[in-house]
Amino acid sequence: MNVLIIRDVRVVDALGEGHGDVVIQDGFFVARGRGLSWPGALVLAGEGRTLLPAFVDLHAHFRDPGFPEKEDLTTGSWAAAHGGFTAVSVMANTDPVCDRPEVAHYILEKARALHLVEIYPVGAVTEGLQGEKLADLQALAPWVWAYSDDGRGVERADLLVEAMRQAVALGKPILSHPEFSGWPHPLAEELMVARDLRLAQATGATLHLQHLSSPHSVELFRQAKAAGVRATAEVTPHHLCLSQEGVGNYSVNPRLPREEARCALVEAFRAGVFDAVATDHAPHTPQDKARGAPGISGMETAFPLLYTRLVREGLISLAELSRHLSLGPARILRLRKGLVRVGFEGDCVLVEEDESFVVDEAFFLSKSKNTPLLGTRLWGKVWATIHRGEVIYLDGLVRGRDYHDHRQVVRAG
Ligand SMILES: [Zn+2]
Repeated sequence: MNVLIIRDVRVVDALGEGHGDVVIQDGFFVARGRGLSWPGALVLAGEGRTLLPAFVDLHAHFRDPGFPEKEDLTTGSWAAAHGGFTAVSVMANTDPVCDRPEVAHYILEKARALHLVEIYPVGAVTEGLQGEKLADLQALAPWVWAYSDDGRGVERADLLVEAMRQAVALGKPILSHPEFSGWPHPLAEELMVARDLRLAQATGATLHLQHLSSPHSVELFRQAKAAGVRATAEVTPHHLCLSQEGVGNYSVNPRLPREEARCALVEAFRAGVFDAVATDHAPHTPQDKARGAPGISGMETAFPLLYTRLVREGLISLAELSRHLSLGPARILRLRKGLVRVGFEGDCVLVEEDESFVVDEAFFLSKSKNTPLLGTRLWGKVWATIHRGEVIYLDGLVRGRDYHDHRQVVRAG
């Protein structure tokens, strides 16, 4: 029997907050209370710390296979554990593209061998993400949880309709990356969001909209959802917290909002329009970034950035942030995670709300340090990350890199 007790800790999840001990046994939360004792348990000191359900990321790029100079499944998993994430959905724009079972199989096998965080591959909608011929969605189905041509939108509506019909039959969602290639403009996003919502309504498909950045497309989504369309949507930490006025024209797709639009996104967030925050973690080498490659290495700064700019500023509560980083995305991925409640998987994160740090290159466990946040002070440090009762990250140490069994770093009670 494997038991971990986190003692005397503030506990916050989407349903509220409390204080006391939390017990994880054989991978599941089994008790919450005060002064609990469990024979043979390992103990983490929670005093002065806050325990949240671990985060779930619906949208990351681990660049593996194909671009190991930017990231691979190992360093991406380290970054995830450091950021407080225990489940990550990785996009199909690898080399080769995840448009056939062998690629998804490679990702799952490597993730299994790493035994660090859960990795959920997304399959491509079209072969090679070329937007011309549908991938074999049925052959991919046992290995992927959803389909997306992330990085490009599926511009041909007839192909998308066929993909949606097949996805309905296979019981999986389509993730829409609402952009037209070569037209990085809010209008492009709005047109594609409107089209994809209408197509989802017509086909009965489950649609998830990725990284919404335009207040108008958020409004289209809100209306469609109210009308019963099976749709969910994510927003990124950088679109909620950074604006062109604040950090200039940092290269990222969709581009950073103007300050006015950013405030509208925060208002929509507060109104509960979004289902999840997703990082769109997009690592690049300094050389690729200098050539204008779009994206932010965002997994490790996601929580501290949102905590500093939204929670500490009093714009949202920590419970609301937890809903968007944990419960919401866990529901979309259909995982029994996202709440610190008996019967849920024992995935949690311990954060230090009053610990601040300045983001520098040494902060990142990701291979890539491309972020407009270098030199910025953030609060809300992730101290420990726990997956199914196993401590996978503790104060700078990562399981598999710095230790092999968490008994080496966690004391017995
Ligand atoms: Zn992406």
